[in-house]
Amino acid sequence: MDFPVLIAILLFIAGASIGSFLNVVIERTQQRRSFWQGRSFCNHCNHQLVWYDLIPLVSFLSLGAKCRYCRKKLSWQYFCLEVLTGLGFVAVAWRFTPHGYGFLAFWLLLFSFLVVIFVYDLKYQYIYDRFSLPAIALVILAQIIWQPLTWWQFLLGGAVGAGVYLALYFLSQGKDIGGGDIRLGALIGFFVGLKALLYVLLYSYFIALLVLLIYLLVKRKKIKYLPLGPFLISGLLLYQFFPLQSVQLIDSVFGKIVDFLI
Ligand SMILES: [Zn+2]
Repeated sequence: MDFPVLIAILLFIAGASIGSFLNVVIERTQQRRSFWQGRSFCNHCNHQLVWYDLIPLVSFLSLGAKCRYCRKKLSWQYFCLEVLTGLGFVAVAWRFTPHGYGFLAFWLLLFSFLVVIFVYDLKYQYIYDRFSLPAIALVILAQIIWQPLTWWQFLLGGAVGAGVYLALYFLSQGKDIGGGDIRLGALIGFFVGLKALLYVLLYSYFIALLVLLIYLLVKRKKIKYLPLGPFLISGLLLYQFFPLQSVQLIDSVFGKIVDFLI
């Protein structure tokens, strides 16, 4: 489809601004502060930040990744999240605009929730209900409006997605799997349906295995704790962006394993 550069740039700026807000949501959730009220402060010197300290991407780069007031280093998380959310918005629009603007709006909103769940789980190993439950509600709403799945696929997907992690929760006695993982499993199952859920899970565990191996080779030590959310969301996004290719890839990998074994 025709996707003008100007639209892409505007989407990137919109995404980077949303990314800037998502940073605030993540950090203030951790600090148990409201993210609707109150001004932003430097984490080091507590100096109040003004509007020109808060321009996405620009402020961070122009200040050389340092606080204007105390010159202490600012986390690259802020900058990276803004860039990635910007790029994510462009990618989502490129992929889903052909399905209509309503569906695109749904995707951009859901994508923002997924970014928060991804980063928060990666950084603080927790998935808050206040992030996962609205995302589940969005997916249910999308099913009611557009019905991308048959109702059986939708319901069984959600039930199995939650069921897999519920079983793991009881098996590990709540040590490795938390309630947030169960809700994320339900979210993904409702979103892609039963059939595709298997592919998303396989994809997620492939990515996790790859990251574990790279980490082991580079750092030469084992990871103590591996949050599940970032991998499930990576698997979900890869599947949603390349559904046919992922099915083919996994089929061929499994075909080779089966050929090798038999
Ligand atoms: Zn400061």
